[in-house]
Order: sequence, then C-alpha cells, then structure tokens
Amino acid sequence: MAAQIIDGKAVAQRLRGEIKTKVADLVAHIGVAPHLVVVLASDDPASAVYVRNKGKAAEEVGIRSTQHTLPANTEKAALLELIQKLNADPDVDGILVQLPVPKQHDTEALIRALDPAKDVDGLHPLNAGLLSRGDESGLIPCTPKGCIKLIESAGVDLAGKHAVVLGRSRLVGRPVADLLLNRNATVTTCHSRTKDLAQEVGRADVLIAAIGKEELVKGSWVKFGATVIDVGINRNPAGKLTGDVAFPGAAERAAAITPVPGGVGPMTIACLLENTLIAATRRRVMR
Ligand code: NAD
Repeated sequence: MAAQIIDGKAVAQRLRGEIKTKVADLVAHIGVAPHLVVVLASDDPASAVYVRNKGKAAEEVGIRSTQHTLPANTEKAALLELIQKLNADPDVDGILVQLPVPKQHDTEALIRALDPAKDVDGLHPLNAGLLSRGDESGLIPCTPKGCIKLIESAGVDLAGKHAVVLGRSRLVGRPVADLLLNRNATVTTCHSRTKDLAQEVGRADVLIAAIGKEELVKGSWVKFGATVIDVGINRNPAGKLTGDVAFPGAAERAAAITPVPGGVGPMTIACLLENTLIAATRRRVMR
C-alpha cells in the first residue's frame, strides 16, 4: 500500500492562515504589529535567500520584519553589540541570527547573548533547558516544532510509540527527541557513532531523519506502517534537492511520509512566525 504523503506546504499554509488571524487580533488589541528582526552576518547566498523568505513570510501574515545585513568581516564585538541593542529595544519582539555565521564569531556566545524571551529560534540555553525538563513554556525550536505538527496532521498519536531520531544537533535532533518524549513516545536517538543504524531504523514506528546525508536511510530499512519525517536537505550532483531518506522505497513501506522539498521546510518558516507571535503576545499583553 502506498504511503500517505504528508503535505507540508498545505499544513504550513493552514498554520500561516491561523497566525494571520491571531496577528490581526493582536494588532486590534494593542495597536501594533509584532516585530521580527533577522540578522544576516554572512555572505552565504543560501542564507540570504532564507532570510529574504523569512521576511516575506512574516509580512504576509502581518508581522513587521526588519533585516540587518552586516558585512561578512564584521567583528565579533559589533555583532554582540547589535544583539544587545535589539534585546533592549522594546519595539523588537523576535530576534533571529541566521546561522551559520563566519568563523570569527562564537555561535554559542551569540545564542547566549540573546534575550531568551526574544529567541524565536528557541536555541538559548534557557529555552533548550526548559524543553529538556519537559516544560514547553519557553520558545521551542522551529524545525522540531514543525516535525511534531506534521506527525499530528497525519493523525498519529505518539503515546507509547517507538520514535527513532537520527541526529543529535542542538537545532533539530535533540529538541525533537525532547518533544517526542514529552508526548510519551519511547525515544531512541542515533548519531554518527551509532553501530547499526539499519536495525535502529527498523524498530521505528516514527522516524525523524535529521542528518544531512543524501538518502542515507534506505527504503528497505523502514518498518512497515511507520511515519517518516525527513528533515534532511541535500543538493545532489544534478542540483536536485533530496532528503536523508530514499523516498520511493520508503514510501512503499511507510504509512505516511514527508517529501523533500515540500515537507518539513515550509513548516520551519511557519513555526518561526508562530514563535514571533507567541513572543510578542507574551511581551506586550501578558506582562
Ligand atoms: P548537523 O550537521 O548539526 O547534525 C547532523 C547530525 O547527524 C549529527 O548529530 C550527527 O551525529 C548525525 N550523523 C551524521 N552522520 C550520521 C550517520 N552516518 N548516522 C547517523 N547519524 C549521523 O545538522 P542539523 O542542523 O541537525 O541538520 C540536519 C539536516 O537537516 C541537514 O540536511 C539540514 O540541512 C536539514 N535541516 C532542514 C531544516 C528544514 O527546515 N527542513 C531545518 C534545519 C536543518
């Protein structure tokens, strides 16, 4: 039986519609739109595209967006100073520093410098720490949050399921494992030192692949009836975008699977907008 294709574009569009309505309600209530500031400090063309898309998506739901573009040779202290200025600005609700940054910067120090209440990427240790303690009252990283929404959109109840996460990054693997655990899944996290990846994948009722290696997960590894969320974005030599999972084979065995592109990617941006709305509501209404 062919798998249900989880349409990330459609789920993200619905979420964006809901956010637009809530932003309009907030504006009617407080008279000002949420304000997202995106900082681009590299000359990486892919990052420039991501930042532009985030700004455009924000404007479409009524969130104000400002982009700070700094030259790639900007000094470490100058970027930290900008973050401090944005932290102190009462008219800024969300700050996103587009990663990766050039190597003169200390990424961890930049993340720690952010006001956790404005950390719409959910990477600050306070937000990550709350999440790992089972407390989702902080800001939750966008891609992991998007993965959970996609699983829920497929009607999957995570309680008691065996979820296998491939990857243990601060950005995806670790927070998505926390979110799965918080929803009562039994979670296995695999990484580059995992001995038998195929065996671990074969036990997954829910598989989240966040590695960054083209089609590393073979279709024949996937458990029959599994839900497969492919976070990976890889560009193959022919210039085509591919995921971490070999899609055709996996789709023959899975009950539901996300495509690449059109799966997790659109959810990441929608969840960034949601986080900006949450941050603005907490700062401007709930204080
Ligand atoms: P990362 O490089 O920080 O982490 C990769 C992880 O994969 C590491 O924890 C590593 O241990 C693990 N790994 C490497 N080789 C492995 C192997 N052979 N077996 C098992 N695990 C292995 O990457 P990241 O930031 O977590 O991103 C992962 C992928 O997701 C990338 O392709 C990235 O482009 C993509 N991504 C997509 C979105 C989106 O919106 N769709 C967002 C963020 C990241």
